[in-house]
Amino acid sequence: MTKFKLEYIWLDGYEPVPNLRGKTQIKEFEAFPTLEQLPMWGFDGSSTKQAEGGSSDCMLKPIRHFPDPARTNGVLVLCEVMMPDGVTPHVSNKRATILDDEGAWFGFEQEYFFYKNGRPLGFPAEGYPAPQGPYYCGVGASNVGPVARQIVEEHLDLCLAAGINHEGINSEVAKGQWEFQIFGKGSKKAADEMWMARYLLQRLCEKYDIDIEYHCKPLGDTDWNGSGMHCNFSTEHMRSVGGKAYFEALMAAFEKNLDAHIAVYGPDNHMRLTGKHETAPWNKFSYGVADRGASIRVPHSFVKNGYKGYLEDRRPNSQGNPYEIASQVLKTIASVEAADEQSAAA
Ligand code: ADP
Ligand code: MN
Ligand code: MN
Ligand code: MN
Repeated sequence: MTKFKLEYIWLDGYEPVPNLRGKTQIKEFEAFPTLEQLPMWGFDGSSTKQAEGGSSDCMLKPIRHFPDPARTNGVLVLCEVMMPDGVTPHVSNKRATILDDEGAWFGFEQEYFFYKNGRPLGFPAEGYPAPQGPYYCGVGASNVGPVARQIVEEHLDLCLAAGINHEGINSEVAKGQWEFQIFGKGSKKAADEMWMARYLLQRLCEKYDIDIEYHCKPLGDTDWNGSGMHCNFSTEHMRSVGGKAYFEALMAAFEKNLDAHIAVYGPDNHMRLTGKHETAPWNKFSYGVADRGASIRVPHSFVKNGYKGYLEDRRPNSQGNPYEIASQVLKTIASVEAADEQSAAA
């Protein structure tokens, strides 16, 4: 028998942005445990804004697990938060609101800033560094500094070793700003792995005494870049049937549901989606082929293939909850596909 360190990880009840929480229990197994072997566990919900003091137990239900590359015999156990009955999802459990759809694929592009002493890593103690321009996909100490690349490389290795489908890295437009991409097939997979990747990044940064700033416009109303989390999405229908009429119905549904989307695309998004700097204004829906200034960018390949493939919603921001984003995108798509089936049946 081997003693495994099981790190149970969940999202707390803070609004509008949940925090990652985790605690360890040691359990013996013959070999690396299966998901089914991992027991439910409890925690004090009154310490995480998930319960009142009186009856404060919440339940942790393991839903995905990964080897923890940073720990000997470590297991990362991603959990959903359940009510004390163990079967009713807690209201903070947004994963439970995502439609099950194996044919839904998501790719999230997470942008973020490294922060040290209350400002972006590499910013001088007073004032600003040289203006934006050379930092995006840049190389060299004066562009990316001495430690940022070391962290993103270590993070990439941790994600790959854990089996997370990390797809790439780039340094971003502002100094101290970076991006990574996570892709997954299945309606919950990319969102699960995004939360896991965020956890690994934040934990890794502890030893550097550096924080991750996810706010979408941490430098406020300046020309310094904001942070997004573009959501690339496709369904089986979009990839294999598609068509111009379907696409236009889909865009009409996105326009109609604008408020529902913006409500879950991350807080303070009006600070970022101003209509300037390759952003569409938050309160006006638009789409365009290869248009990085639209709410939804339609890749060239989508039109070339007869309106089939994936689309990129550029509005979600870096602080958004990928569970809520995926949930809303699939709801809007489902409203169109349901209407399609009805008219086919009529
Ligand atoms: P850009 O910065 O040009 O917008 P990236 O390469 O950073 O593009 O991100 C593109 C994302 O789109 C990746 O996460 C990729 O996995 C995702 N993607 C590609 N094809 C599909 C698809 N068919 N369905 C959903 N997402 C997709
Ligand atoms: Mn990108
Ligand atoms: Mn980017
Ligand atoms: Mn993008």
